[in-house]
Amino acid sequence: MSDVLNCPIQFVKGVGPKLAKILSKKGISTVEDALYFLPRDYEDRRKLTPLAELKAGKFSVVFGKVSSVKPQRIGRKHRLEVTLSDLSGSLNLFWFHAYPALIEEFAIGSLFVAAGEVRVSARGLQMAHPEFEKVSETKNGKPVISINFGRVVPVYSETEGLHQKTLRRVMKEALQTSLPHLKESLPEQLLTDLALPSLRQSFTKIHFPDELPKSDILSESVKRIIFEEFFILELGLALRKQRHQKEKAPPLVDGQGKLAALLKALPFELTNDQKEALEVTRQDLGRAFAMSRLIQGDVGSGKTVVTLGAAAVASGSGFQTAFMAPTEVLAQQHYRTAKALLGNIGVPVYLLTQSNTDKKETELLLQKDETCLVIGTHALFQESIKFKKLGLVIVDEQHRFGVEQRGLLLKKVDKGSPHLLMTTATPIPRTLALTLYGDLDLSVIRQKPQGRKPIKTRILKDKDRPKLYQQITEVVTRGNQAYIIYPLVDESEKLELRSATEMHRRLSKEVFSEFRVGLVHGRMKSDEKEKVLSEFKEKKFDILISTTVIEVGIDVPNATLMVIEHPERLGLSQLHQLRGRVGRGSTASECVLLADAFVTERLRIMTKTEDGFVIAEEDLRIRGPGEFLGTRQSGLPGFRVGNILRDADLLQRAKEEAEKLLSQDPELIQTSNATIRNLVENRWKQKIERLRGG
Ligand code: ADP
Ligand code: MG
Repeated sequence: MSDVLNCPIQFVKGVGPKLAKILSKKGISTVEDALYFLPRDYEDRRKLTPLAELKAGKFSVVFGKVSSVKPQRIGRKHRLEVTLSDLSGSLNLFWFHAYPALIEEFAIGSLFVAAGEVRVSARGLQMAHPEFEKVSETKNGKPVISINFGRVVPVYSETEGLHQKTLRRVMKEALQTSLPHLKESLPEQLLTDLALPSLRQSFTKIHFPDELPKSDILSESVKRIIFEEFFILELGLALRKQRHQKEKAPPLVDGQGKLAALLKALPFELTNDQKEALEVTRQDLGRAFAMSRLIQGDVGSGKTVVTLGAAAVASGSGFQTAFMAPTEVLAQQHYRTAKALLGNIGVPVYLLTQSNTDKKETELLLQKDETCLVIGTHALFQESIKFKKLGLVIVDEQHRFGVEQRGLLLKKVDKGSPHLLMTTATPIPRTLALTLYGDLDLSVIRQKPQGRKPIKTRILKDKDRPKLYQQITEVVTRGNQAYIIYPLVDESEKLELRSATEMHRRLSKEVFSEFRVGLVHGRMKSDEKEKVLSEFKEKKFDILISTTVIEVGIDVPNATLMVIEHPERLGLSQLHQLRGRVGRGSTASECVLLADAFVTERLRIMTKTEDGFVIAEEDLRIRGPGEFLGTRQSGLPGFRVGNILRDADLLQRAKEEAEKLLSQDPELIQTSNATIRNLVENRWKQKIERLRGG
C-alpha cells in the first residue's frame, strides 16, 4: 500500500482537525478510506433549464443573475429569498433558516448556479434550500464546470455537520492526490479476462463519472472494487489452504480393515451423503499431507458415525484419535456411542473429562495405546496430556472451540501434524461458506437418515396456552419428556417477556406441580448445567425449562415436544437448531412456537420445511451475514463495498480466479503479482497461518 493511501485524511488539503473528526464518524480516517467511501447516488447536473421552462416537482439546475435579495426576520428566525433571473424569466430561491454569511453571499448582479427541486409556492415557483455556487467564470455565456455543477455529481451519505459540497471537495482532493500513486492491484491478464476497468479508472468513474450510472445495476467500476475485495479474501483463504495442505501428516490407510468392520457391524445403512463424506475423508486420510475437512450437516443428520469411521481408519493404521466435544454431557454421549460401535472391532475407547475419576489412568493409557480413540472435553488440550501416536483430531461442533484450542491439540505431535476433521450443525449457505470456510475442504450431509419421523411444527398464540399445557400434560403422562424454551433468563422490566426462571417458578408450582420440572440457563456454572442436562437425559425430570443454552447435539430421544416462547426474538437458524433437539427417537415429535400477538411471516417457514440449509438461506437473506453469524462465529471479514449475498457471482468468480492465479504462481512471487501479494499480506497479516492454530 502506498503511503499516500495511508495518509491520514487530516493532511489532505482543505481538511483540518475539525473536519477530520467529523469524517472519522463516517469511517474515513485515511485517504484510502475516502476512496472506498462510495457515493450512494448521483445527480445529473449537466443540463441547465431556462428559468421560464421550469416545472414544479422536477429536480433542476438553473443559472441566473441575482436580481433581488430579501432577508426577513420572523421572530428569531432569519429567512431569505433571493431572486435569480435569466433572459427567459426568474425563480425564487428560499431559505427558512438563513445565517448572516449566507445573506452576504448574494450581491445583486452576481451570477449563480443552483440545483434542487422546483416547488409551487404562493409567489410562483421556488427552490427551497438549494445547493448553489457563485459563478466567477463563464464560457460562451455558460458557467464553467466545477466540482458541483455542470457534471454528474456524486451524492454521499451525509452526517451532522458534513455537507455534500464538503464531501465532494474532500473526495476530489483525495482522488487527485492519490491517483498518480495508485498501483494497479489486479494482474493485467485478469483485468482483461474479466473486462473490468483499472483501479484508477474505477475510482475516478465512481466518484466523478462522465455519464449518469444506472441506478439498478452495479457499474463495472463498482464491480471491480468488489471483485478486488473478494479476490483478496479468497487469495488469503487459498494461500492458507495451500499452506496447511503442505503440512506433512502420517498416511492412514487402515491396513487392519477396521472401517470395513465398523460398517459391517452398523445397525443401519449409511445415507448416500454419509457414504460420500466418509469416502472422501478416507481418501484424504490416506495421503501424506494433513487433511482439514469440515462436515456440515443438520442436527441429527448423522455426522458422528462418519467421524467414528475416520477414527476406525486411524486405529486400523496404528494411530490414535483425539475427539473433542464441547461439553461433558456430549463427551459422555459420544463415548457411549463410540464404545458401542467401535469397542467390538478392536478400537479401545477412552473418556477424558474434567470430572473423570480415573483421569490419571487414562492419561497413562494415551502414552501407551497406539490405536485408541479418546473422547474428551477441554481437558484434552492440557499440557500434561501426551499422546503416543496421534494421527487424527476430531472436533465436534467446531464453532464452540477457538482456533488456539484446536492448535494446542494439533501440536501434540513431534513432527508434522495430525489430520483434522471437524463438524458443524450450523448449516451455512454456500455463499457464506465460501468466505468463512474457504480454507477447508467441505462435506455436506443433507439427507436425513431413513425412518426419521418428521417434526411437526405449529405456531400457537397466547390464547392457546391452556390447550398447550394440556398437551404437555398428555405427553408427560405418556412417559415422554418436553422442553420449554425462553429467550431470557430473568424477567425484564423493559420488555414484557416471560423468562426461564420466573416461568420455572410458576409452572412447577401452579401448572405442572405433579411433574418434575428442571431448569437450566446460561448463568449457571457449567457443571451445574451439565448436571441438570444429564438428569434430564436420565429421566429425572419430565419437563426441562431452558434458555437457548441447551446444547447442540444433546440426544434425548425420549423428549418429543419442544415449546419455544417468544420465538420471534430468535433467528430462524437458531429456532431450527433448538427444534433439532426433538425428533430423535421413534415417536413422532412436535415443536410449538408460541408467538405473542402476531405471527410474523418469517416464522412460517419453520412450519414448512425441516431443511436446515433452506432455513439458513432464508435467515441469511432476512438478517444479513453479520447478524446471521452473530457472536457464534468470529472472523467474518468485513467488506467495505461487497455484499456476499447480492454479489454471490462475483464471490464465486473471485474464488476461481484466486485458485487459478495460485496454480500459476503459488507463493505470488512473480513481479506482476507483487501488488496483490502486498494487499493480501496487509489484509490478512499473520492470519494466513492461523487456521491450524500455528
Ligand atoms: P448429528 O449429525 O446431529 O451429530 P448424530 O450423529 O448424533 O447426528 O446422529 C443422530 C442419530 O441418528 C443417532 O442416534 C445415530 O445413531 C442415528 N443415525 C446416524 N446415521 C444413521 C443412518 N444412516 N440411519 C439411521 N440412523 C442413523
Ligand atoms: Mg453431533
